[in-house]
Amino acid sequence: MDTAIHESLCRRCGTCCRNKVLAGSPPRVFILATACQYLNPDDHTCLVYRDRHTVRPDCLDVFAALKQGLLPGDCPYVAAYAPPDYVPPIDAVAAAQETLE
Ligand code: SF4
Ligand code: SF4
Repeated sequence: MDTAIHESLCRRCGTCCRNKVLAGSPPRVFILATACQYLNPDDHTCLVYRDRHTVRPDCLDVFAALKQGLLPGDCPYVAAYAPPDYVPPIDAVAAAQETLE
């Protein structure tokens, strides 16, 4: 896919740049409220986008993140590229809010 078209899929929600933890049995990935220090909280862009893989070596590209089950289920890259048995991470913030309601 053309790079511009590929990148245009991102809707800048910033969810994939939030911190994650593996927990539970069987283990699941949980997305936490805190985020990478390089995520611009105002528009959810990356402050070091061009150098992100150098500045933060554990910053994964879309396909590596998909392979590790780190992209949220509503991410357009999941719809475009994930296998049918893809197990998305759990948004701990949304899950906690649902519990309170
Ligand atoms: S979760 Fe998907 S749509 Fe949201 S910022 Fe990450 S790549 Fe973009
Ligand atoms: S370095 Fe990676 S994880 Fe951090 S804000 Fe930039 S794209 Fe997101």
